[in-house]
Amino acid sequence: MSIRFLALAGVLAMTAAAAQAEDNAGWTLVIHGGAGVIERERMTPEREKAARAGLDAALSAGEKVLARGGSALDAVEAAVRVLEDDPSFNAGRGAVFTYEGRNELDAAIMEGTTRKAGAVAGVTATKNPIGLARRVMENSPHVMLAGAGADTFSKEQGLEQAGPEWFGTEERRRQLEELKARKADAFDIDMKYGTVGAVARDSAGHVAAATSTGGVTGKRWGRVGDSPLIGAGTYADDRACAVSATGAGEFFIREGVAHEICARVRFKGESLKAAADTVMAETQALGGTGGVIVTGPTGEMAWSFNTAGMYRGRVSAGGARIVAIYGDEQ
Ligand code: ASP
Repeated sequence: MSIRFLALAGVLAMTAAAAQAEDNAGWTLVIHGGAGVIERERMTPEREKAARAGLDAALSAGEKVLARGGSALDAVEAAVRVLEDDPSFNAGRGAVFTYEGRNELDAAIMEGTTRKAGAVAGVTATKNPIGLARRVMENSPHVMLAGAGADTFSKEQGLEQAGPEWFGTEERRRQLEELKARKADAFDIDMKYGTVGAVARDSAGHVAAATSTGGVTGKRWGRVGDSPLIGAGTYADDRACAVSATGAGEFFIREGVAHEICARVRFKGESLKAAADTVMAETQALGGTGGVIVTGPTGEMAWSFNTAGMYRGRVSAGGARIVAIYGDEQ
């Protein structure tokens, strides 16, 4: 073997090792805590501080999983669990009330390698609905369970149960009363912000998405929004990206927001940001406000929203940690 050949082989091996190291380090995590009319004038310092602390804690929970080489799926679940337990957000504890004064929770989780997914709608007693969605994905032959049947499955799976006193908060009760006083039979999309979600890319290059919500204040008749619908509020595909959405669910369902973003990335080769901006503009043209978070197998991260603000955060291997609320923040 010539010296020149050996030198070339050495350089190639080093390049491959460097690429591998870069890939291993390349995890990403993006989270949201809802989008809406979030303006400085309407925010109290206490609420802002609590929301920022909640987002920060969720980033830490997901980061812990990803930094030790854990999966994107575990990371998005860990981040969403933290936000579900935090009464600042409309998911799990702190979920909005239905018109009848109940909490009916929706959640979905999906991983991008096999495109396995699990979702629940209108569940009432599982402390962490995202954990139930994951059980549907892993321990049932189905993708989505709803209502009383989903509550039964949760108990059969031995998941932690919680009563109405865990989910309901004074603030959410007040919002329902205010809504009822204003207009007897409408739900108000601007009173409900706080749906939570996470998307991640792990060090193996796989993506996952998770979303959890109480839905919209004053919802009735078993209404289900986009959050637990695979392709609308939640989607993950290693060939494209992972998306979690928040906003006026009816419009996000009609646009097929999460899948539409992935399709643009996959078939048109658009950047995540360009695809997210286009799909949010199309959703707005239908009348829908809200936002999305996106990350992809290449490590790209993006968010896009057409509301005044969106509770959001991101962190990545070697990257800066960002927590933001208002539209004019980074
Ligand atoms: N998208 C959720 C729903 O329609 C609500 C939200 O994101 O605030 O149920």
